[in-house]
Amino acid sequence: MRSLMNARILDGKALADRLRGEMTSEIEALRARHGRAPGLAVIIVGDDPASHVYVRNKKLACEKVGIRSFTHALPADTSQQHLLGLIGELNQDPRVDGILVQLPVPTHIRPDAVIEAIDPAKDVDGFHPYNLGRLAARQPALRSCTPAGCMKLIEETGVNLHGKECVVVGASNIVGRPMALELLLAGATVTVCHRFTQDLAKHVARAEILVAAAGKRGLIRGEWIRPGAIVIDVGIHRLEDGRLTGDVEFATAAERAAWITPVPGGVGPMTITMLLANTIQAFRTHLGDET
Ligand code: NAD
Repeated sequence: MRSLMNARILDGKALADRLRGEMTSEIEALRARHGRAPGLAVIIVGDDPASHVYVRNKKLACEKVGIRSFTHALPADTSQQHLLGLIGELNQDPRVDGILVQLPVPTHIRPDAVIEAIDPAKDVDGFHPYNLGRLAARQPALRSCTPAGCMKLIEETGVNLHGKECVVVGASNIVGRPMALELLLAGATVTVCHRFTQDLAKHVARAEILVAAAGKRGLIRGEWIRPGAIVIDVGIHRLEDGRLTGDVEFATAAERAAWITPVPGGVGPMTITMLLANTIQAFRTHLGDET
């Protein structure tokens, strides 16, 4: 059967490989200059299998580019006080440039308390209110990884974002909100949709650039997509047969869009890549190396 797909694929895996290759040389040079590699501490609390897979992938990605990683796996009954104590130690540890606490944490621990305990200069996830505030004030420091990865993907299309109609579906602190701030900083006209938005289809149909991050499988129907749009699908859902899919109905959306990210192989690899980039940035700041 003839494929009706018009869109070009925004290949996050290929872009991630290219950027990680560049980082490998950069880290080599940094290590030669400073006598040590950038260091990333990763804390995981509990036994959630998906979280353990994410942490393992981050550790492998670090090793591949030459970042030293320190994993702290804590039992599910770890107290908030103990966790905050460990973060306090890592904040002071000179070998550690970045600190990441894998979310979600068990329900007896407050995620906002954990995020706020991390030194903003080591907050390589970019979740601390200081770093979100910096982005809102147009002085970005460490940027949230997923939105930063989406921006790199959009950049690959060569589009100038000035005045473009951008619609972000989802308004969470870790994806939708910082995504809207990134697009605003780039000069776009931004609409943010969320669970109380009425007539989502109407908003989506206006989008020259659409970022779908609602965490609802297939929420965005292909027929809503504006012809020629750039479609970035952040959603990740595992189907019963084990395959992954996103928030956007891929096949029908790809008939109308100019560019579209696949799931998997779109935003996911870019998120980890931005974590590596943030760790390098935090290392440079830590050591006063702005070369
Ligand atoms: P979340 O649940 O914290 O936030 C979802 C947001 O979507 C909320 O603001 C909510 O108001 C909005 N929403 C929910 N239903 C909606 C609807 N019907 N219409 C419009 N808006 C609606 O989720 P999150 O942490 O922001 O993650 C979103 C998705 O992105 C999930 O599928 C998650 O797995 C995925 N994710 C992927 C990556 C990656 O690297 N690819 C990274 C982070 C999150």
